Amino acid sequence: MSRREEAELILSPWQVMQIIEHARVARPYEACGILGGRDARVEQIYPLPNAEASGYPVTNRYLAEPQAQLDAMLTIEERGWHVVGIYHSHPDAPAYPSPIDVAMAAYPSAVYIIVSLADDEDPVLGGFRIRDGEVEEVAIVIEDRQRVES
Ligand SMILES: [Zn+2]
Repeated sequence: MSRREEAELILSPWQVMQIIEHARVARPYEACGILGGRDARVEQIYPLPNAEASGYPVTNRYLAEPQAQLDAMLTIEERGWHVVGIYHSHPDAPAYPSPIDVAMAAYPSAVYIIVSLADDEDPVLGGFRIRDGEVEEVAIVIEDRQRVES
């Protein structure tokens, strides 16, 4: 394994707010998107349309619209970043990967962020790596962007 694997993912307070707002707007469906960045630092949030977000009963799953996802991935690459994370929301369930999330996880190097709106007053973000059916927790660190290096 060549790339150092980070045990945490760093987001700014503003990025966290963007994810929570997207989750709230998408309810009762799940919201999804990808995160471009460097190492453990998220640089930009890319909200994506959820192709599963229609109809009744409400599905408890998400599928990022493929063309939008490809466009976002190309933009991330052009900027010299990587897809460091993938987020989606759980309107009613806890911030932990569902069996479907584990089965569908296709990016072993990305951190899966799940935002739970189960408690409307207190949204919760969880971070995970999902590989070969194994779920490993990754700390979500929320801090203001500060340039340490020049
Ligand atoms: Zn899920």
